[in-house]
Amino acid sequence: MAKLQPRGRKVKILATLGPASRDPEMLRRLLKAGADAFRLNLSHGEHADHLGSIHAIRALEKEFNRPIAILADLQGPKLRVGSFAEGKAVIAHGQPFAFDRDPTPGNGERVELPHPELFEVLEKGRLLLINDGKIRLRVRKATSERIETIAEVGGVISDRKGVNVPDTEVPIPALTEKDRRDLAFAIQHGADWIGLSFVQRPEDLIEARRLMGGRGALCAKIEKPQAVNRLDEIIDLSDGVMVARGDLGVELNPEEVPPLQKKIVNAARLAGKPVIVATQMLESMIESPAPTRAEVSDVANAVYDGCDAVMLSAETAAGQWPEEAVDMMARIARQIERDEAYRMRVRLVGTKPDATTADALAHSCMTIADTVPIEAIVVFTSSGSTARRVTRERPAVPVMVLTPTISTARRVALLWGAHPVPTRDIGSFEEMIAKGKRMALRHGYGGPGSKLVMVAGVPFGAPGATNLLHVVTLSGNELEQHAKS
Ligand code: ATP
Ligand code: MG
Ligand code: MG
Repeated sequence: MAKLQPRGRKVKILATLGPASRDPEMLRRLLKAGADAFRLNLSHGEHADHLGSIHAIRALEKEFNRPIAILADLQGPKLRVGSFAEGKAVIAHGQPFAFDRDPTPGNGERVELPHPELFEVLEKGRLLLINDGKIRLRVRKATSERIETIAEVGGVISDRKGVNVPDTEVPIPALTEKDRRDLAFAIQHGADWIGLSFVQRPEDLIEARRLMGGRGALCAKIEKPQAVNRLDEIIDLSDGVMVARGDLGVELNPEEVPPLQKKIVNAARLAGKPVIVATQMLESMIESPAPTRAEVSDVANAVYDGCDAVMLSAETAAGQWPEEAVDMMARIARQIERDEAYRMRVRLVGTKPDATTADALAHSCMTIADTVPIEAIVVFTSSGSTARRVTRERPAVPVMVLTPTISTARRVALLWGAHPVPTRDIGSFEEMIAKGKRMALRHGYGGPGSKLVMVAGVPFGAPGATNLLHVVTLSGNELEQHAKS
């Protein structure tokens, strides 16, 4: 069987799929280059395309025997322009540009804006920002049929680019009708994570969770100042968060994003919830095979901050160098994680254990791995909760996550330092030891005399009972047996 060995890095790579990458051969290349999880942006493309991607990912998962997380990202109440006759158009600096309600494909002078709400609330003098703020349009005149603007900053506009109106309140619900349809589609086809865009209030998450009906994990995208104000409540109600820097930097000023990024990463890490840093990480690689130094530093700093995953957006969805972008990210991650200062920096967030047995054991795993040479920590879990608590401590060694639940294995593929391995359930202490050793050897962890730390809950299979920590040493015998098998 084709196999991918452990990645040799802790931080995970989440790659957005799109026209540049949904071909199964390109998907395979992205996986080999280092993608651990894929994002389907339901703002773009048809359900049929996304379904094709889901099937292709699951086929690769089998082929490479590696659980892969799929994150289905809901558009949320994002405003977008219609489409253009040529797919794109140039809005010239200082020139007029109009939005109307006519679905005829647009050009350099006008385009459809398929949001009737906007025509009601926009007034003269207000600002419209296109494509994560790259184009700035000032409203000159607005009626219920047409919004006329002047381009303070022009640029290339293309199909379905996002529109922000930072100085105007738009009355649309957190989950639109489209989101409800997309959510049902994603859940039905086994998406592991649901990304919820433009979360403003804890109630938004409660509603999404209700619609998910106990399936999938919920990732709150932090891209609104309102969400920042209620960050702890939002983290508490979600299974993970994304620092969605594109819209965050438009809703706020770009210079407000870096401190917020650190604040969100720290808060999520303290809570033991995975956190993804997203948007423009290697933006110039949409067109160029090499990133800017500033982009490399941006990825590096996210890695130093100990986020769980770094994300590629248009670089892999619509760029010319999707494989190179993933490879670049993987190279940056490996380099940074080899830096001696990394181990200290990644623990600057003081993740003190909660007063629970599970946390005491998770903390001990970290200390043991710091004290004696340990090859890997082997976690036995069914819900993934022990894996989250152990990786929350950012231990220095790989964390193998053995689980009988395939959805758990896929979900933890997004967790810092976790190497998920689906296995059959275990019934006894002896079986746990034997299986842990066998899996460690099979996945390339361990040589003669090397040690593993095992964590589990007894009785086996009962959730929420992490209470066992055991250190084992691999014997020459076991290695011989493994070599023969
Ligand atoms: P979001 O705010 O959700 O990130 P976005 O429009 O910024 O929305 P990204 O997922 O960041 O979208 O991807 C960047 C660009 O890549 C998109 O604007 C779009 O041009 C292209 N893209 C992404 N996914 C698809 C897709 N499935 N089909 C077509 N184009 C896509
Ligand atoms: Mg966004
Ligand atoms: Mg984006």
